[in-house]
Amino acid sequence: NISDSVCEEARCPNIGECWGGGEYATATATIMLMGDTCTRGCRFCSIKTARRPPPLDPNEPYNTAKAIAAWGLDYVVLTSVDRDDIADGGADHFATTVINLKERDSRILVECLTPDFRGDLAAVEKIALSGLDVYAHNVETVRELQRFVRDPRANFDQSLSVLRHAKKVEPTLLTKTSIMLGLGETDQQILDTLTELREAGVDCLTLGQYMQPTKRHLKVEEYVTPERFAHWEKVGNDMGFGYTASGPLVRSSYKAGEFFLKNLLK
Ligand code: SF4
Ligand code: SF4
Repeated sequence: NISDSVCEEARCPNIGECWGGGEYATATATIMLMGDTCTRGCRFCSIKTARRPPPLDPNEPYNTAKAIAAWGLDYVVLTSVDRDDIADGGADHFATTVINLKERDSRILVECLTPDFRGDLAAVEKIALSGLDVYAHNVETVRELQRFVRDPRANFDQSLSVLRHAKKVEPTLLTKTSIMLGLGETDQQILDTLTELREAGVDCLTLGQYMQPTKRHLKVEEYVTPERFAHWEKVGNDMGFGYTASGPLVRSSYKAGEFFLKNLLK
């Protein structure tokens, strides 16, 4: 049961930012594992939530890998809702999908965009060692706005520890994160956040405009100009991120990112 359209169905305006827009580029796809219902309720996200979503489909890792391999993609992003109702948060499910996929197609590049697993580093490690190429986890916003924007179970240090640990157990991995702008963050807060991410060894950074999915979600505080996005791209590059994509709609830069990733991974 492959569902790559939950966020598209919800017509979530953050999809380009949240998923890196991979689903619109050639020969790439973003696949959502573990169902369409999240146990969390971030204030920017329009996904369905429940305390106890339906159980995982045990055949999903096998079937998903089989389908993806048949599509002949160059690059795939595996992502998921957060499943705080499951002991390992679904880490084994992610890892098994990657292992099955790489067995069938050793050439395909695999990015996992994962939950924070409540800071469970054994869960992070399982995925980091599964054979994937890019470990992505989104901090979503600057340190100061975490509580205001994300579900209370998420926080900046926990997310930073996920990214740091993935890199530590598998240094050849690229790590990647994403920040939405326009939520009321200050320039200094952005700068501090980027500095902390770089110190945690994060390789790839994307910045995009936050868009309000529905009236019930957080309001947009500011529409950041393309010039400011360009400024942050330069800041990111100067700080030493291997790749920084920054723009109101980051999906437009994604192909460049893909190109970069491929070349870096050679
Ligand atoms: Fe999907 Fe939520 Fe991201 Fe929107 S914010 S793209 S609904 S995960
Ligand atoms: Fe959306 Fe937050 Fe759940 Fe991710 S953890 S799917 S951003 S509600």
